[in-house]
Amino acid sequence: MTPPRSHRWLALVPGLLAALVTLAFAGYLLLTRGEAAEQRASLLEQDLLWQKQAIEQQVAIDRDAVHGLAATLSGSDYRSPIFQARVLSLLQTSPEIVGLSVQDRAGHIEWHATQASWALPYRGEPGWGEVWVSHGQPRIIYAVQTPDRRRLLIMVLALDRLLQQQVPWWIAQRYQITLYSADNTPLASKFQRQLDPAGVIGHIALNEPPVGLTLKAEVYQTPTNPVTETLPWIVFALALAMLASTWALGRMMRVREEAEARLRSETALRTAMEDSLVTGLRAMDKHGRVLYVNRAFCEMIGYSAEELIGQHPPMPYWPPEELERCEAVFDAILAGRLDRNGFSTRFMRRNGERFDVHVYASKLIDGNGQHIGWMGSMYDVTELRREREALQASHERFVTVMNGLDAAVAVSDAQSGELLMSNQQFDRSFGLPDWRGRCCVVPFVPRRAEPPVDAEWYDGFRQHWYQIKGRQSVWVDGTAVWLEIATDITALKGATERERRQNEALQQTARLISMGEMASSLAHELNQPLGAIASYASGCRNILAAPTPNLTQLDQAIDKMGEQAKRAGQIIRGIREFVQRRAPHRKRCDIGTLLDTVLGLLGHEIVRRGVDVSIAQAGELPPLYADAVMLEQVIFNLIKNALEAMDATPTEQRQLAITLARNDGNLRVAIGDRGTGIAPEQLEQLFKPFFTTKDSGMGMGLNICRSIIEHHHGRLWAEANPGGGCRFIFTVPFAEETEAHEP
Ligand code: ADP
Repeated sequence: MTPPRSHRWLALVPGLLAALVTLAFAGYLLLTRGEAAEQRASLLEQDLLWQKQAIEQQVAIDRDAVHGLAATLSGSDYRSPIFQARVLSLLQTSPEIVGLSVQDRAGHIEWHATQASWALPYRGEPGWGEVWVSHGQPRIIYAVQTPDRRRLLIMVLALDRLLQQQVPWWIAQRYQITLYSADNTPLASKFQRQLDPAGVIGHIALNEPPVGLTLKAEVYQTPTNPVTETLPWIVFALALAMLASTWALGRMMRVREEAEARLRSETALRTAMEDSLVTGLRAMDKHGRVLYVNRAFCEMIGYSAEELIGQHPPMPYWPPEELERCEAVFDAILAGRLDRNGFSTRFMRRNGERFDVHVYASKLIDGNGQHIGWMGSMYDVTELRREREALQASHERFVTVMNGLDAAVAVSDAQSGELLMSNQQFDRSFGLPDWRGRCCVVPFVPRRAEPPVDAEWYDGFRQHWYQIKGRQSVWVDGTAVWLEIATDITALKGATERERRQNEALQQTARLISMGEMASSLAHELNQPLGAIASYASGCRNILAAPTPNLTQLDQAIDKMGEQAKRAGQIIRGIREFVQRRAPHRKRCDIGTLLDTVLGLLGHEIVRRGVDVSIAQAGELPPLYADAVMLEQVIFNLIKNALEAMDATPTEQRQLAITLARNDGNLRVAIGDRGTGIAPEQLEQLFKPFFTTKDSGMGMGLNICRSIIEHHHGRLWAEANPGGGCRFIFTVPFAEETEAHEP
């Protein structure tokens, strides 16, 4: 806070006054000094003028007196008593006249009235003579003719005496008066004291006697009055000191004002801080008397600070029914039994409303380190308790919902697998009596690096199917967790299975209806091995017709014929089983072996057509769980179709690519050719019975192949082969996935 504007002006007033006084004194001193000098100069001028007139007057008087004497002198009557008396009177009144004599024109002194030494012979003209100095005494002569012109009356004027006589005391006191001759030689002077070296000097020329004398006046060193001289300076110094002290005082006041302002703002900040605290603060002395309460405390209980300060127990905010508890807490604090976790009690507002408080107490130590009482901080925990209860209720609702779910829900730590949360359904389905809080015992979802997981899982122990959904998520404390939801789909699975069986039954009926279709299928399938047997038979005949039949070749051909006959038998059996809806005879078999068998059967065809066959396999492949004969039939059909499709393809481009790969729990076989290809709209028609583009074709091969594959829970489809031709792809489950659970 800064003082108001008028106050600041007031603070400046003494300083301004002091400055004014100092300036006034300085001006006064300067002025008086200049004035005094001026006054002295003009006084000197006046005094000198006066002195000149006095001297000139006296000289004129002496001159006139001599003229008067001379006028009365006729002949030699200077001896007459009257003349003598007049002379005497003149000499008495004018002591500067040291010589008075009468002489003739030849210079003979006839009479002299003064000392004989001053009766000087004078041969000059009447009037003033030269100034001369004799024995240090300046003299001048004045001669007057007697009326008869025969004599001269000679007067000798002692200039030093003239000066002594004519300079009055009051002039002599001020100045040293000196008489100078025309050639500036000092003739006489009158002085009393020492001269002021810097004093004022005045000159004036004397008209009488008219011989070029000058009068010089020099001012004496004026005796200084210590009091009058120094007083102004003292006052000036005092004014300066006053100015300095006012300045220092002003400075001090400013420093004080700043300190006060700092203190005020600090106090205001402290008060603001105390007031903005939401914690109630109460200080009391060692006897339990309230010393201080902050605003939050007052607002908490509804009493003003004035009402509370000085209060003794029982306090007005202690509810009557809680008196004992409040007293116990109070006594514990006064006795210094301070609980680090604080005390819980209940207070009462002025309007009678009760509220829960938590009190933390500590020692009140003053600035000197003295323990003077106790400090208490109070927190209104009513709202906190309410929130806690609300939280609890919300948690209970959450748990109720979770436990009401049919699905098993669990949250486990993504790193350690520790189970963090689970619902009742989970505990019932997978829990062990004491597993809670330990490592998750049901790692039903294979932990994969890439969430989310969406899989079906069969619990062989309880014989239940589950739909598992797993997501990686972030837990309330920020850690990475797995959230897993397992839904029991056993019932659904059963329904699906029943539906599948019904479908199969329907299909079987449909197949039975198209028996004729089957018959032609049989004929088609048998055509192949029978044709082969016929060609081997004609081969045998050719060997036997030779002069020396090659028995080894014959033996091989007969073996091949046997194989083909066996295959024909298998086909017939396969078709019969198919028509009878017999489940395939599944057992572990190896795709490599199956391929070898088929390629062996078709080797002749492949070589004849000059087709380049390649087999590519991605990684190790587990064994299949399938009917080997049926699969061989499928592969045989697909490869044969592919070979036939490439009949129009230039020989060097005839390529047959077989690729084997894993697709989840299935084997994926793709057979691609560089043949004619298939129009997109025909891709599905191929699998319909009797669809064929070949003259001798029956259009049953692909239909039977799809039935077989579907029977193995796989899929068969056709697509365009990138780079030309077409590609047939089928999937069959691996043994490990299905072996145990196949009903
Ligand atoms: P068929 O071979 O007796 O005609 P399929 O059911 O095996 O009977 O084949 C049906 C038709 O599908 C064939 O006539 C042919 O037009 C077509 N087809 C089958 N495989 C291929 C293939 N690899 N490339 C082109 N067309 C094919």
